[in-house]
Amino acid sequence: MKAVVFHEFGGPEKLRYEDMPEPVFNENEALIRVRACALNHLDIWARGGTRSDRIPMPHISGCDVSGEIAKVGSLVDNHNVGDKVLIAPGISDGICEYCTSGWDSLCENYKIIGYETQGGYAEYVSVPGKNIIAIPDNLTFEEAASVPLVFLTAWHMLTTRSHLTAGETVLVWGAGSGVGSAAIQVAKVLGAKVVATAGNESKLDKARKLGADWVINHHTQDVPAEVKRVTNGKKANVVFDHVGQATWEKSMRSMAPGGRLVNCGVTSGGKAEIDIRYIFVRQFSLMGSYMGGKGELLKVLGFFEDRRLKPVVDSVFPLKNAAAAQSRMEKSEHFGKIVLKV
Ligand SMILES: [Zn+2]
Repeated sequence: MKAVVFHEFGGPEKLRYEDMPEPVFNENEALIRVRACALNHLDIWARGGTRSDRIPMPHISGCDVSGEIAKVGSLVDNHNVGDKVLIAPGISDGICEYCTSGWDSLCENYKIIGYETQGGYAEYVSVPGKNIIAIPDNLTFEEAASVPLVFLTAWHMLTTRSHLTAGETVLVWGAGSGVGSAAIQVAKVLGAKVVATAGNESKLDKARKLGADWVINHHTQDVPAEVKRVTNGKKANVVFDHVGQATWEKSMRSMAPGGRLVNCGVTSGGKAEIDIRYIFVRQFSLMGSYMGGKGELLKVLGFFEDRRLKPVVDSVFPLKNAAAAQSRMEKSEHFGKIVLKV
């Protein structure tokens, strides 16, 4: 099969479009003919060698897969060859105290498909039968591949972790990212008010169209001052962050008393200073978030059937141009998901 592979860690030039053996699969797995695979920042960290011991080499990236079932293992029920499917990106043992209470991503055996296993930058990928989910009828392959990881992450962050409720205000950093564009929509479904930031006018306009009530240019405007202004001095109840170091201090200054900061990533770096006085006097909560449970993914997918949530596809590249697709992401030129068509 054709695949995009890297044999050593480094820049986008390490990605090679070449022939690889078709993946083997066991009786509990299925072989998927990939039709679309969305990019995530994880792909860039994997290729760059962050936590390199977790990456099987040579490596095929790609955590967000949609396609058709090509072959099924003998113990896989309820799925047939030819079914149009998307793949839940998390693998866990399903039996520990975390898995059985819906906290799959805390499982000691948790892995992300296409990060800690071989993924969807390829014509075929093998996945556990229990990760296969039928595609909602009204979604194309490209749209379906744009959903799982970012909507699962945004849902887990805003519901399970920070308990955002109707009438509250959330500050969403980086609306142009996949997870930012998902967060705006999830927050609106929950009935919250959204202040979103982005780096240029075109992205701010798209954020507004997705439902953001107010938008702020994080390059040219003072974000904490603007958050305070648009909320009539109340500030944000929840801050939704995936940027880390560059936004940390501004997030602290943007939070209302009792505010919750929820973070799922550190695209700008992972070191920040904490003034503990802020935390206790204003009774802030700082929370980490990592993926989510399969039950949460099934729940969030339900909102796509009636289009209350919509996939945000920025651009579609042919598989062999994966390096150009990753460069677009690294330069933050995108709004929403960059997808490889396979
Ligand atoms: Zn488990």
